[in-house]
Amino acid sequence: MTALELLVDLHKSQERQGPGSKKDTIKALSFTNLSGKSGKAIADIGCGTGGQTLTLARHLEGHITAVDLFPQFLHPLQKQAKNLSLQNQITCLEASMDALPFEKEQFDLIWSEGAIYNVGFEYGIRTWKEFLKPGGYLAVSEITWISQNRPKAILDFWKQAYPEITTASNNIAKLENHGYTLAGYFYLQPDSWLKNYYEPLEASFESFLERHGHAALAVKVVNEHREEIELYKTYRDYYSYGFYVVRKEG
Ligand code: SAH
Repeated sequence: MTALELLVDLHKSQERQGPGSKKDTIKALSFTNLSGKSGKAIADIGCGTGGQTLTLARHLEGHITAVDLFPQFLHPLQKQAKNLSLQNQITCLEASMDALPFEKEQFDLIWSEGAIYNVGFEYGIRTWKEFLKPGGYLAVSEITWISQNRPKAILDFWKQAYPEITTASNNIAKLENHGYTLAGYFYLQPDSWLKNYYEPLEASFESFLERHGHAALAVKVVNEHREEIELYKTYRDYYSYGFYVVRKEG
């Protein structure tokens, strides 16, 4: 298996593939005026195994197109949706977020948790905008500096891992420059990282390593995750996922 295949294999049995929680999803949704309204069209981009997709399906009356690059993530979502009798509300679509087969002004809401970084925040907010109806909402979480002062070690790490990382005010300015109005902003608290994402992932490391016979590449994948978790625990006062909810100007 390649490193990418191993990465997908490590994450595919998890409820989430990034930090977040049901509470965060519901809070972000509360900044839109869509709750309780019927017939809405929603896209969930980079849905993974669909933790947030299922929450959205329960709280919105509409149809969700759940998009991910990897069928290994979409299959468990499809199965879960069926088990929960939500299959009529959710359509899984294997596609890349930089080549989406959508129509202009198709959606009332575009959702994306912990995924836009794959194409870059500014690229994502710019190119996805055409798929939103005027007055439609974009709700997106993005890694964000939450303090003005940063220790060099964490600055160096993020400069290398994701140079587009910036503060909430800079991201909000980007959104405004691209024709969106801010509806709400908050950032994820430690439980959304640790309890909901890192701890279940850590609990799966041993079985993952056994499944792959402790192959060097599998060990490397686990070690990289362990380092990422340590980094978060040490520097969690300096960065988090910011959740940006904005409205496309009509
Ligand atoms: N929204 C989920 C998953 C976040 S992890 C959650 O919060 O739990 C990021 C997701 O983006 C992964 O599921 C990954 O497969 C997906 N992804 C990565 N590159 C992609 C691309 N080019 N197009 C679509 N999805 C992509």
